[in-house]
Amino acid sequence: MRVTMIGAGYVGLVSGACFADFGHDVTCVDKDPAKIEALKAGQIPIFEPGLAELVANNVRTGRLFFDTDLTEAVRSADAVFIAVGTPSRRGDGHADLSYVHQAAREIAAAIDGYTVIVTKSTVPVGTGDAVEAIIREVRPDADFAVVSNPEFLREGAAISDFKRPDRIVVGTEDERAAEVMRALYRPLYLNQSPLIVTNRRTAELIKYAANAFLATKITFINEIADLCEKVGANVQEVARGIGLDNRIGGKFLHAGPGYGGSCFPKDTMALVKIAQDADSPVRIVETVSAVNEVRKRAMGRKVIAACGGNVSGKTIAVLGLTFKPNTDDMREAPSIAVIRTLQDAGAAIRAYDPEGIDQARLVLDDVTYTKDAYSAIDGADALVIVTEWDAFRALDLDRVKALLRQPVMVDLRNIYPPNDLLRRGFTYISIGRPQEL
Ligand code: NAD
Repeated sequence: MRVTMIGAGYVGLVSGACFADFGHDVTCVDKDPAKIEALKAGQIPIFEPGLAELVANNVRTGRLFFDTDLTEAVRSADAVFIAVGTPSRRGDGHADLSYVHQAAREIAAAIDGYTVIVTKSTVPVGTGDAVEAIIREVRPDADFAVVSNPEFLREGAAISDFKRPDRIVVGTEDERAAEVMRALYRPLYLNQSPLIVTNRRTAELIKYAANAFLATKITFINEIADLCEKVGANVQEVARGIGLDNRIGGKFLHAGPGYGGSCFPKDTMALVKIAQDADSPVRIVETVSAVNEVRKRAMGRKVIAACGGNVSGKTIAVLGLTFKPNTDDMREAPSIAVIRTLQDAGAAIRAYDPEGIDQARLVLDDVTYTKDAYSAIDGADALVIVTEWDAFRALDLDRVKALLRQPVMVDLRNIYPPNDLLRRGFTYISIGRPQEL
């Protein structure tokens, strides 16, 4: 089949490359000429494990193309995916749909013959209706269907998530469009990934409900972690103790500095707005969003407390900047609030991240970036682990202790065993775990 992907970001590029790998002919279109130039030159504009090889293989076999202009690719396409950004609208937290609407207008002008237009971006309920109205307005003659097909991949594991999804959700009441979607995803459901066909509004809501539920789970365990600290319990054991109950499940029960990233913060906010507009508020999600926002700066204050209540004039080493490991994505990363809180209190920051430094430079001021973890730690008054990259899981702790001016480690991801660190003479603070031998 012929597929056109509008937007070659994290979702569009991964989805496009995976569809090509299934054997479809795919063109990824992006408005950003630098992105397309880079892709044509064989460079990948984002960091995602395995993506460079996947793109290179499919370019070589002649199934994956890149363009800044959608006209030709849309004209010949069986399915056109909209995978553009839907960031929070400034000021009110609604999803900003201007990129989606613009893409719909451009697609409308180019379609030729029956075309399935698929919204892969995360969009509020009713967006499919709006996209359909735009296309109908621009091209009253067009033969098309608009389908919702939300994406559930996680950055850092995006390719395996796309190729082995827990489920595929297709929102359409047009049987011809459903057939096109089944054909596109056939390689997957031969592997027994369930494909759920539902109405468009339901599909749109499934995506927000899924993200809000996961954000709730994280926020729940974070609050339990705070309680553990007060009452002398261990959150990792609480998480295991509840997670082994199949009704609860063990995933997304890792206490930490609060969720970040390009999806959970904006999608929880957007769901809150959708629900308020529908006069059916989702108070749990409102609270989750508020609790999480406060938590990120509270983590900065936790570091200050570990340093004796004052970081003015001190140097803090920060390991891990991206919102999670195995990505270069800095959007809404907890590191941003942690670092700003420390800077506001007068600390100097030395930071290292395996892939995120280029993106971090765009959002953080006055940070000294180092070439590795130990250079960040050298001469610092305390060390904070914000993102649990594998490279930080087995640091040479004797070396770390020797390099630090004070042996203070704040581990916001609970990657070290407290007793080991305490026995080595560290002041070791983690999340929701006993801090004494
Ligand atoms: P992104 O910012 O990485 O990529 C979006 C791309 O779209 C950009 O490269 C931009 O230049 C391009 N673009 C915008 N308007 C365009 C147009 N009219 N024509 C061509 N290109 C255009 O965004 P992303 O992280 O890939 O997210 C895309 C959507 O997928 C969002 O709605 C997001 O919520 C959703 N989503 C993201 C993830 C994730 O992990 N990143 C997971 C699931 C769903």
